[in-house]
Amino acid sequence: MIVQHLHEIQHRCGYLPENELRALSARTGTRLYRLQEVASFFPHFRLKQPPRVTVRICRDMSCHLRGACELLEKTQRAASKRSDDQLVVEGASCLGRCDRPPVAMISNVDHGDHEQVYTDLDKEKLANVIKAAIKKNDDQPLADGDSDKNWQPDQHHVWEIDPYAGKPESQRYAVVRQMVQQTRGLDLELGDMEEPPENDIPQEVLDQLADPDNLGPPILQEPDPERKRIFAALFTGGLLGMGGAGGRAYKKWFDVRKAKGDQKYVVCNGDESEPGTFKDREILLRAPHLVVEGVIVAGLVLNATRGYIYIRHEFQEQIAAVRQEVARAERLGVCGEHVLGTDRNFPVEVFVSPGGYICGEQTALIQALEDKRAEPRNRPPELQTNGLWDRPTLLNNVETLAWVPSIALRDEGKWFSAAGRAKYQGRRFYSISGDVARPGAYEVPNGITLRELINDHAGGMRDGTELKAVALSGPSGGFLPRMLPVEYLTEGFVNATLDAGATHFDMLDMELDINASRKMGVMMGAGMVMFGETADMVSAALACTEFYRNESCGKCVPCRIGSQKLVELMTKIADRQFTLEEIYGNGNGASGLRGLVRDLADTMRLTTICGLGFVAPSPFSSLLDHFRDDVEAYVKNGKS
Ligand code: SF4
Repeated sequence: MIVQHLHEIQHRCGYLPENELRALSARTGTRLYRLQEVASFFPHFRLKQPPRVTVRICRDMSCHLRGACELLEKTQRAASKRSDDQLVVEGASCLGRCDRPPVAMISNVDHGDHEQVYTDLDKEKLANVIKAAIKKNDDQPLADGDSDKNWQPDQHHVWEIDPYAGKPESQRYAVVRQMVQQTRGLDLELGDMEEPPENDIPQEVLDQLADPDNLGPPILQEPDPERKRIFAALFTGGLLGMGGAGGRAYKKWFDVRKAKGDQKYVVCNGDESEPGTFKDREILLRAPHLVVEGVIVAGLVLNATRGYIYIRHEFQEQIAAVRQEVARAERLGVCGEHVLGTDRNFPVEVFVSPGGYICGEQTALIQALEDKRAEPRNRPPELQTNGLWDRPTLLNNVETLAWVPSIALRDEGKWFSAAGRAKYQGRRFYSISGDVARPGAYEVPNGITLRELINDHAGGMRDGTELKAVALSGPSGGFLPRMLPVEYLTEGFVNATLDAGATHFDMLDMELDINASRKMGVMMGAGMVMFGETADMVSAALACTEFYRNESCGKCVPCRIGSQKLVELMTKIADRQFTLEEIYGNGNGASGLRGLVRDLADTMRLTTICGLGFVAPSPFSSLLDHFRDDVEAYVKNGKS
């Protein structure tokens, strides 16, 4: 695999020397241009020898809010005074530690591509870490010191997702064992594991499945009773994909199950790069056994031949934890060759992503797995029929797969269905950061309000500040004000929820559920960033727009050019080059700069290939729509 070979060379040499690429080309019979086209796409790979120490400071959302840009500027200024070429300081896209900002990643070329993440930084702390990194010249990795490795997650928060919590490790992988036992009649050593559930699917579920409105008939076509049981549990539980699209999980699984082909794949998407989103990071670290079991169960149900767990390279601890867990699963015989003594083989491997936000897009991720530039593909065809190596592929997010064991083991999925608040099904994880007292990743019932998430889990707003703006899906959904005017909500939601004549909706009352957010007409993901009353929304919107410009893969012209155009326009606002009249025109939203941005957003939405092009204008448009006071303050004073 080209990508893994490039990782190995960079690990050994600190970058990718030309002679090493030539040797790799000769060794593997891969044309040199193929190696170069892959190496030059991913920001992680260095084609030139870098200075001994590289410092990359995150500039996005929570880090931006905690002064990362000033930290970057000061550190760069200090570095420019050095007379040697030992140090380079640069900005970086989200490093996935939004709960402990500001964050920097430091690498020392003497230690290959070993990267150490440092969190909760200030100027002095960062200067000390850099000093130590420059001094270090033996072959030991950088000292842990204040690094991310020393951080302990909040172990007191209860996770319902883990059915094995508090039980011996030998009891893990119970779903895999049950499946093999039921389908093969093997007399396996099950220890004191719970009794395998009945194969019979309750009549009420069969009735629901027989209803065409429930998309149920496909499950009824499944001839294998054990697979049918897993499908029925996913259906009954109401598990949705947790990667953003929020489709019914069982439906995607069944599409792969029924797709023709003797080679099929299961891919777990652990390339969590959306600013503000870090819940998969926690699941991979604290419950890798659930992710690995989810992949294996999917593999057995779908008759897949191999599983991949794709993790971003910045998550070194998570990569180590999952690799260790895969090795343990192999020792237990639940994956690899001859799963539990049967003739089924299902190897699982960890693929270290060479990085870039775009790799989280499902088709781009598949491109990277195939050793290509991670440029998204046009769809259809969908991955379920034409995925990895053009074979049927299930691609699920980390959290989606991690929920599978508890749904399959407990009460045939009924507990999960009942785990939501009132009319809502299930539980899910949110990462919350920004101006809250206790940023973190929290598992909560669907349907709790944003107020509850902030107050009961995240410890309330930081230092008692008032909530000014929320980003419900990292930068993708833009910024919404605490009191959202009703014209930005769907008529159905307003009629069903608000009193007649209400002009605004308090976002703190929003019930957190993906279907509920769709009914409201707002975009909601798993990464929530809260902005307090003093937040500079112009600066925040500019940083998010720059993020999308930097992360655009450049494949389609409207995204490549449009995202740059958005940055230029936003920069002009920040530099006071527009008057308020030029920005807002006659105030109807269709004229002035605001109208231009709307047109640009429509064009990008209609003509770009992937979601990045759809959402890149959101931070800018939402700034103009909802934070006119901030824009006005900039125009008058140069700052909000
Ligand atoms: Fe690449 Fe942007 Fe096109 Fe997506 S929309 S494929 S990121 S250029």
